[in-house]
Amino acid sequence: MPFSLFTSPNPSAGSDPFPYTLKVNPRAKSARLKMTPHGGLVVVVPPRFDKKQIALLLQHHEPWIKKIQAKFDAHRQPSLALSENGLPSSISFPEFAESWSVTYTHGGSGEVELKEKPGSTLFVSGEVADTALTQKLLSAWLKKRAQVHLLPALEKLSAAHDFSYASATVRLQHSRWGSCSSRRSITLNSKLLFLPEHLVRYIMVHELCHTVHMNHSRAFWSLVHQHDPLCQSNNREMKTAWKYVPAWLGQGS
Ligand SMILES: [Zn+2]
Repeated sequence: MPFSLFTSPNPSAGSDPFPYTLKVNPRAKSARLKMTPHGGLVVVVPPRFDKKQIALLLQHHEPWIKKIQAKFDAHRQPSLALSENGLPSSISFPEFAESWSVTYTHGGSGEVELKEKPGSTLFVSGEVADTALTQKLLSAWLKKRAQVHLLPALEKLSAAHDFSYASATVRLQHSRWGSCSSRRSITLNSKLLFLPEHLVRYIMVHELCHTVHMNHSRAFWSLVHQHDPLCQSNNREMKTAWKYVPAWLGQGS
């Protein structure tokens, strides 16, 4: 089941008081504001909306924008301190008892190299000033950690509850925590590494139940409920689960 996390960011510049992403929605009747945890502020407008009105709109809603931004900031994990270039100085998967410190060493060769050192240190060297490239490398590393942790956990859960699936893969995704294809291939989002155990388990149960029911019918939910009696509250909790995902990953893929 897709859980909408956030929209893909496309920040626009300008003299507006806040950076925002503009989205033109043909079905929108009037302009509205939306705040997403990593994409930031989104302004949704109907087609032919006078763009000059946006600054006014932002001004008008300034108290609201500031309030929500402060709320998002407060939710960020303290361990997610960023180094000066906006990349993480530590990466932790609390539920999997793993915490890595990350060190960066400049040495420009146009490439970036990542090495795991004893003592749970990630040693990143090379063209680390290229934030996008470095982030990509960290994301690839994250995917490997997700393979190590998530796939065996899925296998174990599946065996314990007599499910069967064709294959399982891990991907770093923006908008889905997990999915299950009609061929019973399960995909899990690497970002699950940052979530509390009960939510990781809920997503796995949810996708495993899709191997039986490829829909969100009553029969499907009843099956989910059998394997996770708290599925309703867990499903609700997933709506704000983005808060566990570190900001440096928000815009990476
Ligand atoms: Zn689903």
